[in-house]
Amino acid sequence: MRTIEHWIDGAYYQGNPASTFDVHNPATGEVSAELLHASAEDVDHAVKVARRAQQEWSHYSLAKRQAIMYKMRQLVLDHQDEMAQMIVAEHGKNYSDAIGEIQRGRETLDFATSITVALKGQNSFDISTGVDIHTIRQPVGVVAGIVPFNFPAMVPMWMHPLAIASGNAFILKCASPVPSASLLTAELYKEAGLPDGVFNVIGGDKVAVEAICTHPDIDAISFVGSTPVAHIVQNTGVQHGKRVQALGGANNHAIVMPDADLAFAAEHISASAFGAAGERCMALPVVVAVGGIGPKLAEEVAKHAANIKVGPGMEDGVEMGPVISDVAKTRITGLIDDAVAKGAKVVMDGRPLVIPGHENGYFLAPTVLDNVSLDAPVYTQEVFGPVLAIVHADNYDEAMRIVNAQPFGNGSAIFTNDGGVARRFQLDVEAGMVGINVPIPTPVAYYSFGGWKESLMGDLHIHGPEGVQFYTKAKAITTRWPSEATFKATMSFQREE
Ligand code: NAD
Repeated sequence: MRTIEHWIDGAYYQGNPASTFDVHNPATGEVSAELLHASAEDVDHAVKVARRAQQEWSHYSLAKRQAIMYKMRQLVLDHQDEMAQMIVAEHGKNYSDAIGEIQRGRETLDFATSITVALKGQNSFDISTGVDIHTIRQPVGVVAGIVPFNFPAMVPMWMHPLAIASGNAFILKCASPVPSASLLTAELYKEAGLPDGVFNVIGGDKVAVEAICTHPDIDAISFVGSTPVAHIVQNTGVQHGKRVQALGGANNHAIVMPDADLAFAAEHISASAFGAAGERCMALPVVVAVGGIGPKLAEEVAKHAANIKVGPGMEDGVEMGPVISDVAKTRITGLIDDAVAKGAKVVMDGRPLVIPGHENGYFLAPTVLDNVSLDAPVYTQEVFGPVLAIVHADNYDEAMRIVNAQPFGNGSAIFTNDGGVARRFQLDVEAGMVGINVPIPTPVAYYSFGGWKESLMGDLHIHGPEGVQFYTKAKAITTRWPSEATFKATMSFQREE
């Protein structure tokens, strides 16, 4: 059995593990490796290494940091096939989706190559006679990233390029089911010339997360995962004096208005509900069909869903892989069973699917449920699987009440051809990322990504300009040089006007 170790101080590191985790191939159900889960002592070792490395790294010139980011960007491009195969083997998503997430992660590396611009300060001359002010942003110090299983490359890349380019050291607590892309990233940073100890990877469960959240020498934590864990990380981290951004779960809704182009909407809804088997935080699990169009829309979506080829992610033509685990598959089928018992109409049933030769894989085909009741757990919970729930509303106001009554606020979309309604929607909706005829409105990396309500704890979104803000502290410097005009001191607090 292959053992996957941590990466600390530029090399693989065994330490003194608290436990181990079986990494599975979701397409076969087989165990492919054993991942070491760090003890509190291992976390402490990583923090000491990172602190020492950061002190030197923060003095690297912007030009040198930028050059390493350019090199890293190219290395990720050169190794994307290898990384994508690792993702397919551990996560299960299909190959082109794995390439897609690496590409979107690389966009943050692109942004990090222009850290020279992002870190520019401001200045004003003569705020009083002979007195000037300027601002700088300095690294926070040691940053930890705690990440979910669903984007093994992209979500960590939302964090580490900007944290590192801003002059911090980074400790990535990878997601246990999908560690390999993170370790390849560590090897590539070394090849790119990043000094040892600036980027570290540890495996771990709640023992490691607790050690991170309470460690006195970690300055900031970026967390992405489910809402209950986001609350734990936010509360514990803040109590221990850290800057924390914690992105939580989602249950994204799209409103489909009666004037929308139904064929266009159905095709896009199918792709966004079932892409990556629904295991995207910006997936579209709920549609609110307005003015009686529910049954027709459900039929149209199901026509597209029926053509989705489900299978092992490396197989030619496969568009959707398995879900992450047996536990997830059982949970998702249970939610469908329950919705049906509560009166939902099954327009397409993904439960019976078996892939020949992959009977032990965690496969489900797309499921389309129409007329789902608002108290069914398949609607109220984050399903995180290939299930679309269609609920009905009589008009825009009722649809908007449904969308805003739910606790999450990650992404939300509307399908309409009415510009006035679209304009109202973008102002009314309580969500951080909004799409007009775009069901997965994920911002590009030079904008920031984040939700509202239970989808984000903390006040800054991730990556882009707000990412740089999160990983740096502001300093305002006021300057005066002795001269005839500035020599005289005054006891008064009044500023000269
Ligand atoms: P998760 O919350 O189970 O795990 C996230 C991280 O927290 C992992 O590294 C895990 O090891 C750790 N963890 C898990 N349980 C813990 C506990 N009790 N105490 C301390 N640490 C713990 O999430 P997941 O299942 O890996 O990922 C799916 C979730 O992530 C979904 O809810 C999805 O919406 C969310 N997600 C959100 C975004 C976003 O941008 N808002 C992006 C991707 C995924």
